[in-house]
Amino acid sequence: MHEYIGSIHLHTTASDGTADFEEVAHLASQAGLAFIIATDHNVLVTGKDGWYGDLLLLVGEEIHDIERVPEANHYLAFNIKREVAQHAKDAQAVIDAVNAQGGFGFLAHPFEHSTPFSGEPEINWVDWQVRGYAGLEIWNYMSEFKAYLPNLPQAFFLAYFPGVAIQGPFPETLRKWDELLGESRVAAIGGTDVHATVHTLGPLKRAIHSYQHCFRTVRTHILSSQPFNGKLEHDSNLVYQALKTGHAFVAYDLIGDSRGFRFIARSGNKEAIMGEEIALEGEAEFEVVSPLPALLRLVHRGKVVAQKRGQTLRYRAKEKGAYRVGAYRRYLLRRRGWVFTNPIYVI
Ligand SMILES: [Zn+2]
Ligand SMILES: [Zn+2]
Repeated sequence: MHEYIGSIHLHTTASDGTADFEEVAHLASQAGLAFIIATDHNVLVTGKDGWYGDLLLLVGEEIHDIERVPEANHYLAFNIKREVAQHAKDAQAVIDAVNAQGGFGFLAHPFEHSTPFSGEPEINWVDWQVRGYAGLEIWNYMSEFKAYLPNLPQAFFLAYFPGVAIQGPFPETLRKWDELLGESRVAAIGGTDVHATVHTLGPLKRAIHSYQHCFRTVRTHILSSQPFNGKLEHDSNLVYQALKTGHAFVAYDLIGDSRGFRFIARSGNKEAIMGEEIALEGEAEFEVVSPLPALLRLVHRGKVVAQKRGQTLRYRAKEKGAYRVGAYRRYLLRRRGWVFTNPIYVI
């Protein structure tokens, strides 16, 4: 398996970000990423997808209805060639228009919290009856950060030391994901939602947060049986297939390099990786391997069925359903979410 680390969900000067595609690609490459997916608001920029040195830049779109009050239903669309924002009034129509051209998408920051001191509103997903999306953005770095800012001075402190605030995906997002997994396949990605907007407090000026910083935080690692070959069509297809099917995990790499984290299942003489299905023959044996010590938790139907501190976890399951792993590490005096894998589906 080839593992590539990417940053998904970012904004450029094509909407309300502060760097253009070339700058963003350069900064992502410096941060050691293999790919990024830009998702500007309600605009599909064409002609920018491609290799920028050793960095693969892909361009998607984040769509929402700009007239809706309160604002809601941000949708991340990938692998689209034509604009879909004209359907923004109807979330299902957006999803259908994306799928109709061979694309796929994720519900962005499905649960948010408004910023306590500034009243910056929460932008949730509210139309849960929609169908046809690939999955959820289970962890959005900026969305989590803005939930923890009680006042302006503390906001500035946390802008310099964001690691104090960040804890992991919101529990309600994980609960909703587990609930949805009881009915169907739902993939997960992590995003940064970086804009790098500059804020000022008296003499202080701070971009909250910079691209350089965000690219080292919540990342999505994809697993592929084939390596990149430098050709855009081939390589973008590898990324898109991995994200759509869930051959991927979400990791907060700032608190520990998660490269090499693996979650596999065996049953009979078959083996499955995250995002795959496996037929239950008597029992399914799960194995988790972590590159760093962590609290490893295996979750089934919203319940922790096995947990262990260390670098490996094994569990024999007799029940069908989706199994996923959450791994936690201590950082700055508290336990924080580190790795969240896509599920393996025991059928
Ligand atoms: Zn959004
Ligand atoms: Zn966004």
